[in-house]
Amino acid sequence: MKTYESTRGSYSCSCAEALVSGIAPDGGLFLPAEPEDGSFDVRACLEKDWNGAAAMILEHFFPDLEGMEELVRSSYEGRFDPADPVPLVKAGDRYLLELFHGPTYAFKDVALSVLPRLLTTAKRELGDDSLTLILTATSGDTGKAALSGFMDVPGTAIIVFYPADGVSEVQKLQMTTQKGDNVRVVGVKGNFDDCQTGVKEAFAALNASGELKKEGIGLSSANSINIGRLVPQITYYFTAYAALMRNGALNWPEKADFAVPTGNFGDILAGYLAKRMGLPVGKLICSSNRNDVLTEFFRTGTYDRRRELRLTSSPSMDILVSSNLERLLYLATGRDGGAVRDMMRRLSEDGIYTVSGELLERLKEDFSAYSCGEEQTMETIRRFHERTGYVADPHTAVGLYCADMYEKEEGSGRPVVVLSTASPFKFASSVLAAVRGEKAAGGPGDIKELEKVSGLEAPEGIRELEKAEIRFRTVCGPDGIRNEVTEFAKRERRCP
Ligand SMILES: *Cc1c(COP(=O)(O)O)cnc(C)c1O
Repeated sequence: MKTYESTRGSYSCSCAEALVSGIAPDGGLFLPAEPEDGSFDVRACLEKDWNGAAAMILEHFFPDLEGMEELVRSSYEGRFDPADPVPLVKAGDRYLLELFHGPTYAFKDVALSVLPRLLTTAKRELGDDSLTLILTATSGDTGKAALSGFMDVPGTAIIVFYPADGVSEVQKLQMTTQKGDNVRVVGVKGNFDDCQTGVKEAFAALNASGELKKEGIGLSSANSINIGRLVPQITYYFTAYAALMRNGALNWPEKADFAVPTGNFGDILAGYLAKRMGLPVGKLICSSNRNDVLTEFFRTGTYDRRRELRLTSSPSMDILVSSNLERLLYLATGRDGGAVRDMMRRLSEDGIYTVSGELLERLKEDFSAYSCGEEQTMETIRRFHERTGYVADPHTAVGLYCADMYEKEEGSGRPVVVLSTASPFKFASSVLAAVRGEKAAGGPGDIKELEKVSGLEAPEGIRELEKAEIRFRTVCGPDGIRNEVTEFAKRERRCP
């Protein structure tokens, strides 16, 4: 049995329980207890196709769960193009790993296609026949991908909270028109941090009171605090490296750098886990928008969330408290749960903590960090399109800009892969305005215009939004989240 432990050092459990509960009772996040010992066969994984690599990685992390190959196959079937689910494309001299060819057009689909099946398999393993209520805060993309993944999955129900004025028009419509009998979507008056904090508090309060448990309802999360969200994302670092080998950009064991548009630090942490498993990764370039808390952290060692959250054209990265940094701190301190607990306490009480100089040096061996302001994001989209014909979404543009800065300042000479995290059509108005250098009209017309400008066809699910019925109009304050959850839970219990 594989054991998982909490990053705050006072809890451990089976991998099935870690998957089902999402977050540890001491408030920490789960990671496997055994350190990476070099037993993962990296070369064998690089020879596999997408499904094969994914199954191998998932088996490595969740050996207690049976039938992983079938689980992976059925998760991705009909949702991604099996021939090339995450294509590595070259535009100019840049490599872009396109992670947005799933059902909701952002990288979250890679993991959220698998998570529902991981969860139901883990529940079966535990003999748990409760209703699992998925509680999710979203800055825009997680919500839709989670709704799509969990829609009508037996034994589950999902409620999503999004910042009412902090997501793009397409993102909002994608969520409020979601189909399915076990889903609910609520807007929150506030920003993403208000949503995330409100959801975490509701989670803790409802678990402590036991009122849902009594009714046979367990809570879980589809946010990247759930280890089942992180592990499937490791796969694309492997497949990207394999693609670089195939097209002669590098030879084993030369290293590749990855620029990762970052918000909650989940995607980039998956890259760090890939590196710890033995994949030849050079630097992970932590790319932030003007919410540059992480850039400052990797430069100075001080994490300071005491500032206003700024809304940007890359809303999925508008975050001040990046949850998964906790996992990095745990691993980089040699699994010092006490130290992590102290840092997280200082973060929640004072809004700030500082790591030792020695720890900072260690982090800098694996990470570089840059940030990209709003004007620079727009400028990058425009210039990159002009130069290469490639239309990047604003999140990807942040990665492109930070990759350029990295090469200018630290130039490693290694191939740099920029993770392309969303379809530009999800942010049609911003992208159109950037490419044209003038304000866009807003509304569905922008999608058609962007089709003309880019020569690409908008994904079907986005073209059809215009006609879809809006099912969810509720908006609440951050302190209304708990009530929304209990009301929804009661209804789902009555008519499962
Ligand atoms: C979620 C998201 C990110 C940030 O990923 P994290 O794992 O939260 O760091 C970047 N770009 C897009 C398009 C996203 O949806």
